[in-house]
Amino acid sequence: MTQPTASHFVNGAYLEDGQGAAIDSIFPATGAPVARVHSATQAVIEAALAAADAAQPAWAALTGTERGRILRRAADLIRQRNRELSILETMDTGKPLQETLVADATSGADALEYFGGIAASLGGEHLQLGADFVYTKREPLGVCVGIGAWNYPTQIACWKAAPALACGNTMVFKPSETTPLCALKLAEILHEAGAPPGVFNVVQGAGAVGAALIGDDRVAKVSLTGSVPTGRKVYGAAAAGLKHATLELGGKSPMIVFDDADLEDAVSGAILGNFYSTGQICSNGTRVFVHKRIKAAFLERLTARLAKAKIGDPLDETVSFGPMVSEAQLNIVLGYIASGIEEGARLITGGKRLDRPGYFLAPTVFAEVTDEMTIAREEIFGPVLSVLDFEDEAEVIARANATPYGLSAGVFTNDLRRGHRVIARLEAGTCWINSYNLTPVEAPFGGVKHSGIGRENGKAAIEHYSQLKTVYVGMGPVDAPF
Ligand code: NAD
Repeated sequence: MTQPTASHFVNGAYLEDGQGAAIDSIFPATGAPVARVHSATQAVIEAALAAADAAQPAWAALTGTERGRILRRAADLIRQRNRELSILETMDTGKPLQETLVADATSGADALEYFGGIAASLGGEHLQLGADFVYTKREPLGVCVGIGAWNYPTQIACWKAAPALACGNTMVFKPSETTPLCALKLAEILHEAGAPPGVFNVVQGAGAVGAALIGDDRVAKVSLTGSVPTGRKVYGAAAAGLKHATLELGGKSPMIVFDDADLEDAVSGAILGNFYSTGQICSNGTRVFVHKRIKAAFLERLTARLAKAKIGDPLDETVSFGPMVSEAQLNIVLGYIASGIEEGARLITGGKRLDRPGYFLAPTVFAEVTDEMTIAREEIFGPVLSVLDFEDEAEVIARANATPYGLSAGVFTNDLRRGHRVIARLEAGTCWINSYNLTPVEAPFGGVKHSGIGRENGKAAIEHYSQLKTVYVGMGPVDAPF
């Protein structure tokens, strides 16, 4: 595995400044340090913003075809180096290599390929108004700031960089301080693919570095993936500068399993929506509403399937369930498990830290969870599935919507009309019928209510990284009142 050679990537090259506070990347399966980087100092922040600002006009002046070619070349390089990048992602996050080989660098490559492909066809429209006419031009916003969470460091960097760069913006990206390494490899690859210096820069640091970036006058937009409290701060800072903002925030999403559902598929959906990436996924369906008539069968199949999870060294490709990202996150989740037990939920399986090095937690299932329990209301962000009983369609819709969040929702049923009827009434931005947590780059992704503003992926993302200029062209004499 080739590690990044310095903390930051600015103006087309690695950059170090040992004055910044040390940030260690820890391999969560052992607790051993993988690498040490330094938080960006004021000098590094300034260098990154200046580079992005200087590079932006020339980058925007390239044709979409030229920009797209660079993005697509980067996608090819990522695919060629998928194994190496996946190992780094596994070291940074603890997610099993079995997953990272198929879900992380590859989904980042998909985004670069997709937005590289549409860069050449971005444009405005022509409106004929008698002899006069209007045309609109799609213009970039300028310098964009991307701020990432720690659960999908490569994917998040690519989901932000690809549409931003396709539209002619440049970017300064700040990864999560918990997973600093993977975004640096993206910067390296983009520049190897031909992106001019300054087009994509990476600086390290925690919230203060993110805040300094957003607050700079040269920055036109921020895209954050993170928690709701951080989203509030970032949105406030963007508002103060009247800047564009995309916010991909947390969730407490419902998954509703009707009694006519295919039971095995519903259990698969619940596993994907609660235990993939050790449960550290924003769109997880953590409130699993199961119809009373099939609850016993559902729990039996779920526990039987969970027993097949192979927990262990995430670098072993046969392992399907890895550690949590950090001790801090593990302790937060253990706190929620304790509250579930204390508030009267029935612990079906798991619930304990595993007796081995690293931050391993057994996949955990609670049943008889009620709407007012803490574990049914707050985002846990770990491998904890709550089963809630229901009997009536209208009742379950009301309960599913009784949350400030609105990222995702899922319905399992074999009744075609019910599937669409129920999804139509669920307050969520990203929904699934008879599947869960599939997020192809072609499909817009994002939340409603407190779960976010704006959309990533799909053509919708273009709206959030560009703006229209309207040009009215007068073809006749100018008619003035005096
Ligand atoms: P977090 O909110 O603690 O941090 C997210 C990022 O924001 C980090 O890079 C952090 O350094 C930065 N940050 C913190 N304070 C800041 C400030 N004042 N100004 C600017 N930047 C600041 O989140 P996390 O713990 O890294 O990630 C977990 C959260 O992310 C969960 O809530 C999860 O649901 C959410 N998430 C959402 C999505 C999505 O697409 N909707 C995807 C993944 C994770």
